[in-house]
Amino acid sequence: MTCFFCKGNMEESTTIHTVQLENCIVVIKNVPCHKCDKCGEVVINGEVAARIEEIVSGFEKVLTEIAVVNYSAA
Ligand SMILES: [Zn+2]
Repeated sequence: MTCFFCKGNMEESTTIHTVQLENCIVVIKNVPCHKCDKCGEVVINGEVAARIEEIVSGFEKVLTEIAVVNYSAA
């Protein structure tokens, strides 16, 4: 896989993904992604993005300001 921006090499990695909702920030740890070894660009595939949406939608009704969740345990 090649980086869209710098044509560097994208390697399998994990990242921290943060989503800001109206009342809450959801921090998802250990999100599988590809990361560029040159510029650090992170790409999350569609399947993972859909899972993130699922995880986040579960937090929309929770009255907490910040939630930290582990992707692999969610
Ligand atoms: Zn790059």
